[in-house]
Amino acid sequence: MSSFVCIVCPKGCTLNVTREGEKINVTGNSCKRGEAFAIAEITNPKRTICSTVRTVFEDVPVLPVRLSADIPKSRIFDVMGEINKVVVKTKIGRGEAVIKNVLGLGVDVIATSDILKTAEYSLYAEKKSV
Ligand code: SF4
Repeated sequence: MSSFVCIVCPKGCTLNVTREGEKINVTGNSCKRGEAFAIAEITNPKRTICSTVRTVFEDVPVLPVRLSADIPKSRIFDVMGEINKVVVKTKIGRGEAVIKNVLGLGVDVIATSDILKTAEYSLYAEKKSV
């Protein structure tokens, strides 16, 4: 039997998983999402990444990013390696890809902020108010 905490929602149910051949039994879950998470965790665990990438812009040296979908847990460090290589040189906005199809996983690394597009205006506003 395996036991682990469900990370799908803040309730944090303790999931107990037993396997009999092809059949996977889950107990401890308070909802179906927990059962689905437990089965995925046993058969093909996946995770997402939220991180930052560097930029060439002095006023916004880092840009927040995330993955467009979950990836296999075993590829987290590989993808982080790719994210760490990125230096953004154009003023991209929220939802735009920083890396398309990272490592051929069918998932993009995307910006989660419009700060590069708005920074110029906020700096301008600051200068005007001084
Ligand atoms: S089993 Fe359901 S209620 Fe419990 S932590 Fe997971 S998602 Fe939340």
